[in-house]
Amino acid sequence: MSDSFLAQVDRMFDKAAALTSHPAGLLTQIKMCNSVYAFEFPLQRDDGTIITIRAWRAEHSQHKLPTKGGIRYASNVTEDEVRALATLMTYKCAIVDVPFGGAKGGVRISRRSFSDAELQRITRRYTYELTRKNFIGPGIDVPAPDYGTSGKEMAWILDTYNSLTHDPLDALACVTGKPIGQGGIRGRKEATGLGVFYGIREACSFEEDMKPLGLGPGLIGKTMIIQGLGNVGYHAAKFLSEHGVKLVGVGEYEGAIYNAEGIDLEDLVAHRKSTGSVFDFGSAENIESSRDILTRPCDILIPAALEGQITDENATDIQARIIAEAANGPVTAKADEILLSNGVMILPDVYLNAGGVTVSYFEWLRNLSHVRFGRMSRRFEQTAQEHLLSAVENLTGQSFDPDEKREIAKGADEVTLVYSGLEETMVNAYHEIRDIAQKKKTDLRTAAFISAIDKVATSYTEMGIFP
Ligand code: NAD
Repeated sequence: MSDSFLAQVDRMFDKAAALTSHPAGLLTQIKMCNSVYAFEFPLQRDDGTIITIRAWRAEHSQHKLPTKGGIRYASNVTEDEVRALATLMTYKCAIVDVPFGGAKGGVRISRRSFSDAELQRITRRYTYELTRKNFIGPGIDVPAPDYGTSGKEMAWILDTYNSLTHDPLDALACVTGKPIGQGGIRGRKEATGLGVFYGIREACSFEEDMKPLGLGPGLIGKTMIIQGLGNVGYHAAKFLSEHGVKLVGVGEYEGAIYNAEGIDLEDLVAHRKSTGSVFDFGSAENIESSRDILTRPCDILIPAALEGQITDENATDIQARIIAEAANGPVTAKADEILLSNGVMILPDVYLNAGGVTVSYFEWLRNLSHVRFGRMSRRFEQTAQEHLLSAVENLTGQSFDPDEKREIAKGADEVTLVYSGLEETMVNAYHEIRDIAQKKKTDLRTAAFISAIDKVATSYTEMGIFP
């Protein structure tokens, strides 16, 4: 029997922990999941029948507060999975220096089987349960979207929390990934996919790292396959296509398509919207089993759907030279070993999909400060730049083109600041991980875990808990 998701995450932790010199007790504390709330609640369906719904919220580590992590709506979600995802969140936050502990929520439903009104009742009841047990709050635990949830559910969570809280001033910060009008931040929706793009771009920029893979540096001319065209997959594909990577394969739950000549992303999205599936898209080949797309030829394979997609059964057939883990846990521990021994570069989930939590952090800060980023400084920056450009014109006796002048002088708006903060975060974290990988002569995942362990260990020792 293969290891559970949590056992696999813990195996990866152990591999990295063995390369550190922290005391065993401290390592155990870092690894353990601190608290899990498992519960059931009733739902009256639209037709009057009553069913019970299973749900969880796991808080892996409170070494920094609040804890943070998405809520997953999926028919096969389990407690093990929620614990594993909460665990990954702790490491992820540490890797990108977001000052939160890790958490995750799960509700065992297939959202396609419920009406909007039912989903709203489920979400509100779930939030009520978390509030009652002190598992949600701006300084306690802050959920966000994950597989099967979006801004809509986050708005219901906010409204429910608002109606129950005794601290309305900061209530907006109880959840992130909200719609803009409900305290959300510009750039959050695309943040994880954009972070995936920044991470891949950075990894591909090192000629010496691309050479052993048989690839040239940079993105232009590389090919990619995406599994899962949801929020993360779509945005990763969009930014990569815009920067010269050719999309050759797409897998969705109904099946997959492949076309070595290239697939236009927006046309495919429109086609799927109108026909309900990716099949029969131009001259692309139809592939019945979505999983089969993973072993088709490409340079960069981006699993962006669910965990456990690349296992010891299909790892040897993978043709991609780079696997970019946009989803959480798409490569099992055994598959990881096979791929590494085949010289494949794996950009680990624990780093690569941290864009979502990074921008969630920006949203949380914005909610607590009650002011949009750029609001206080944008006009000032613009005026200062205009004065500077006018001084240059006076000195040189030459005038800038008015459009160019406007472009240079414009102050940064919220989305520009969010993108720039995210880029800075993803680039710095990649350099940190790559340096550790080189120093310890290990792979990027192990290096990312070492980075996380060192940072969480420092938090504990600085607290004086483990002197
Ligand atoms: P989503 O629900 O928006 O998209 C998931 C997509 O995968 C959907 O289009 C779905 O139809 C498709 N899918 C489902 N089963 C499939 C299968 N067997 N084969 C191919 N496609 C399948 O979810 P998302 O938010 O994009 O999350 C995707 C992954 O990214 C998850 O692992 C999630 O944990 C991870 N992630 C998400 C975020 C975020 O900000 N949303 C952040 C970090 C990590």
